[in-house]
This record gives sequence, structure tokens and C-alpha cells, in this order.
Amino acid sequence: MNPITGNVSIDAQNIMPIIKKWLYSDKDIFIREVVSNACDAITKLRMADFSAASGCSVRVEVDKAAKELRFIDDGVGMTEEEVKTNINQVAFSGAKSFLEEYAKDGEAENSGIIGHFGLGFYSVFMVADKVSIDTLSFREGAQAVRWESEDGMAFTMSEGSRTSRGTTITLHICEAEEEFLDLWRVREVLERYCSFMAVPIYLDEIKEEEAVVTGEGEEKAEEEKPLLKPINETQPLYAKAPQDCTDEEYKEFFRKTFHEFEDPLFWIHLNVDYPFKLKGILYFPRIKEQFGGMEGQIKLYSGQVFVADNIKEVIPEFLMLLKGVIDCADFPLNVSRSFLQNDGYVRRISTHITKKVADKLTGMFKTEREAYEGFWPDIHPFIKYGVMRDEKFAERMKACLLLRTTEGKFLTLEEYRERNGEKAPGKVVYTSDAARQDAAIRLFTERGVDVAVLDQAIDVNFTSYMEYSAGENPVKFCRVDAELDSLTAEEEAEALDNDKLTAIVREAAGDEALDVQVKPLVNDSIPLMLIEDEQTRRFNDMGRIYGRAEFAMPAKYSVVLNSRSQTVRSLAAREKDERSVLLARQLYDLAELSRQPLEAEKMTEFIRRSMEIVEMAAKL
Ligand code: ADP
Repeated sequence: MNPITGNVSIDAQNIMPIIKKWLYSDKDIFIREVVSNACDAITKLRMADFSAASGCSVRVEVDKAAKELRFIDDGVGMTEEEVKTNINQVAFSGAKSFLEEYAKDGEAENSGIIGHFGLGFYSVFMVADKVSIDTLSFREGAQAVRWESEDGMAFTMSEGSRTSRGTTITLHICEAEEEFLDLWRVREVLERYCSFMAVPIYLDEIKEEEAVVTGEGEEKAEEEKPLLKPINETQPLYAKAPQDCTDEEYKEFFRKTFHEFEDPLFWIHLNVDYPFKLKGILYFPRIKEQFGGMEGQIKLYSGQVFVADNIKEVIPEFLMLLKGVIDCADFPLNVSRSFLQNDGYVRRISTHITKKVADKLTGMFKTEREAYEGFWPDIHPFIKYGVMRDEKFAERMKACLLLRTTEGKFLTLEEYRERNGEKAPGKVVYTSDAARQDAAIRLFTERGVDVAVLDQAIDVNFTSYMEYSAGENPVKFCRVDAELDSLTAEEEAEALDNDKLTAIVREAAGDEALDVQVKPLVNDSIPLMLIEDEQTRRFNDMGRIYGRAEFAMPAKYSVVLNSRSQTVRSLAAREKDERSVLLARQLYDLAELSRQPLEAEKMTEFIRRSMEIVEMAAKL
């Protein structure tokens, strides 16, 4: 052919600098673009001539000495005409429409979304100061073509040097981007974007002593290195039919894909063909202690090409706590923000995934209750979060929410009410810290009332959620130290001098406005109890979680004196004097101690007073 020179387009001058600037954060995307083009070229060949395509692969060569990165495939290649259309026109228009999309809103730069979405072949100019395409089409009688450009704007086309079918893209890496001449850096990028591409991809390093290979040399280099292992898995597990996958394979895929050491709890294999194509595996990881420690990762692929992590438009936010891969074959690689926000297709995917997750969980609840209970301690923060975030998910999961009791039982709300309705009507009694609130817990468990353990950060919100979503059958969640009704004995105790008792306790607490009640309690061994108002405490707990402690309301306590306790009766029978105030102080501290450790000063005072009481007793 006669050499051609030209300009890609008149607009190009303006566009290239912008591309370079905007894509600054995620430059490595160019590798995905070039490799997926190479894979496509092989897939196209497979469709045109199946047998010719067997054994085809993509090779990535890192050549530090020549400062070149080469992408070599034996796919369909391009004729001169095809280079003109595909590279000079089509590829460029892709870049252009990408920019038009983002130029509209100024937020593009900060969106963080940009870097995730490539813009095709032209992204190579972010890192290269010279790019050449050597290509030979698979069509009969085709001539090899070479396209070359230094800036993505001006190009030359001339006769190519490839003697075998396929395409070699050579990037001369510019000085500032030399990290892309580092084998490990290139491997890392390939593993991120190309792990599941459908064609084997080999990575190779050209050592200095090896000649810079072009043309015929390429085949030679390949012959010399037959032992390389592909960096990718051309048939990832998620793309297989669920019935062909074993548990061990699922676990291994999880460990490999997410660099995990621990096995997942269970998983969901998504496999839909209609009304959209969706494949994937969602894993429920074992969760470390608190909600804050849950950090999931959902990798989105399109036709086995990595698109991005955690795209919130596709994956409902609460599912981001899981780990998994989702492959939507119809999802464009170059997605724009408006596509994500307005597309019904994206919404349907999201709804479908949510439904599948709920189906899995409700199915397990119904048919494998024991296993479900076993998973509950790990999965409950996720489920609770989901229920509060997503109405449809809540609707489905409503009957499968469990309360774990201090005695290790797992009860649904309905079951809890059936068991405890008589002794604690309309209530769920719970503890937020089983160790610290042990004394109060016992008051209930000894009477056969189940105490639910709600001790995770999310439970503060969740209890309120359960209350307002209870509908016709209202329920109140009361912490063990907030609930008095079900601890009050039915039979009235002999009346005592309440005014005197109140005065003693108020003086002991140094609070003239303290709310003091004298009541018969079911358990006569407790003389004094501190009851903290549930709503105020919950409000303050929430404030702490959201870092708004400065808005905390003053804690609201009541002191309950048990009229059935012998100690209280003795106090009421005596004249109010120093000793009765001293004893009341001791009772008050003991009640506080059963809720939380005393502060240093109070503790010292408590010990000193205890000594005094022991001495008093010794003298009797
Ligand atoms: P897209 O891949 O989105 O179509 P690109 O800018 O990445 O856009 O590539 C433009 C076109 O160039 C491709 O559609 C393809 O026709 C052609 N092309 C790019 N790389 C190759 C290759 N390695 N082999 C054959 N054709 C290629």
C-alpha cells in the first residue's frame, strides 16, 4: 500500500489532553481495553472459523530495554479498510461520546466513576508517546497494515510486517509512566481486570539479551517459551451451571478471588438467562465481631471483563457487605453515569439480586432452620441492615428475623411472644451486654422470661425499627434495666413509710429530685434497683454511634425500693439517721455496680464504706 498520513479528526486536538487529565486516577484501565479488544478479536475469529480459533491466545510482553509494552493476539486482525473505520473513526467516536457525556456535568472529575470506565483503544495514549498497530486480517489475500501515532491525533499508515494472522499493539511507554514496564505492576493490573476473560492471556518479560522482536520474531519468541501459565481463568466457576459446581470449588473460588483464608458461610449462585443475562456468585463471609468490621466487595463483570467494584446502582447498598462476583453480559464496558441512574435494566438487575438473596435466606429458614440459626450470629447484622434499608427485602425477611436469647435459643418475634406473652405482655426484654447486665438478666430468666441479646451497634436502630414496623401487633423492646412492670409482684406487700424511705434515698444519692418508687418485686432478695428510661438511653446510644454525644440528654433514672425486701423493711422501721443514709448509699452503689463498674473515686468511697459496715457488723 502507499503510505497514508492523516489526522484522526479535527476535534482530536481538544480531546486528547482532556482524556489524559480526566483519566489520571485510573490510568491502568488501558490494559483492560487493549486486552479485551484482543480477546474480542479471537472470539470473532471463533465465530467465523471455529477450528482456526482453537489454541488462540493473547500475549502481553513487557520489554523494559525497549521501553515497550506489546499486546499480541492471533485473532481476526484488520484489513486496511478496517483500520480506517475501526481505529480512525469508530474508536475515536467512542472516546468522543465518552467525553461528551462527562463534559456535561462538571462533577465528572470528582465522581471517582470516570476512571472505572475506559474509553477504548485511545486510552493507550494516556501512557504511551508512540503507539503502533501491526495487523494482518484473517481474510484471504489480506495485506499486513501498520498504523502509527505519537499523540492519538496525527497518524501514518503503511505496509505492515506481520506475517501471521492477528494484531500486535506496541506501546512505547512515556517516561512518566514507566511503572507499566514493571512486570509485577502489569501482572497486578491484568489480574484485576482480566482474570476471567474468555481467552488465555500470557504475560511474558523480554530480557535484555533477547532481541527486540517484531514481525517474524514474534512467533519465534512464542516457541521458545511454551511453559508460561495463563494469568486468567477462562471458565470461571460462576459461569458454569450450578449443578456442575462442588462445594469445594465454591470455597476455592472464594479464597482465590478475594484472597481469603477463611471459608465463606454459604453462597448463592445466580444464573439467569431471561429477561436479562446475569451470572454470579454471592458469598456470605464470616463476620468479625462488630458491624463496622464488615467490608464486602462485589466485583462487576461484563462478559467476563472486569468493569468495577461495588457499583451501588447495580448492587443494593446493603449487599455490599457480601463478597461476590456478578456478570451482566449486556452491561456496557463503557458505562456512563446517566446510564446507571436512569436505566430500567440496571434497576431490574438490582431488584433481582435482592430477591434471590431473600429467597435463599427464607428458603434456608424454612427447610434448614438449624443451619440458619447456626449462621445467624454471623449474618444478622447484614440482614438487619438490609431490612432497614430495603422495603421489599424487609417484606420477604420479616418472618425470618431471629432473636438470640441469653440461653442460646433462637426465636422469631412471634415465637418470643408465644413463650413470654403472659409474663411480659407486648414486650421483648433484652440485654445490650450480657456480662455486665447479668444481675438484671437473672431477674427475668429465673422467672422463665427469655432475654434477647441485642448487643451490636446496629441493634440500637434495629429495636426502634422493629417497634415502628410492628403494625397491628405492637411490641416494645425494653432493656433488662429499663423494665419494671414484669418484675412487680402481684400481691401487695404491707404498706411502708414511703416518704421516709424516699427521703433517705434522696439524701444518700445527694439528689433531692430523684424519682423514688417503693414497689413489691417478684424477687425479695433485691432491695434496691436502678431503672433507666429506655427512650432516653436509646436516644443517647444512638447519639454515641453517630458521634453526636454532645446532644445527649441527661440520663433518666428511677430508684425502685423493693417493699418485699427485708433490708428495705428494716430501713423503713428505723428512725431516719446517719446509719440509714449510709446503708442506703451502700445499696445504691451495689445497684450501680451490677450495671457498670464504678468510677475510681466512687469505687474508693465504696470500699471505704464497705469497711465501715464490716466494722459495724463485727461490733454487734
Ligand atoms: P470498542 O472495543 O469499544 O469497539 P475500541 O476503541 O477499543 O472500541 O476499539 C475499536 C475497534 O478497533 C474495535 O471495535 C475493533 O473492531 C478494532 N480493534 C481494536 N483492537 C483490535 C484487535 N486487537 N484486533 C482486531 N480488531 C481490533
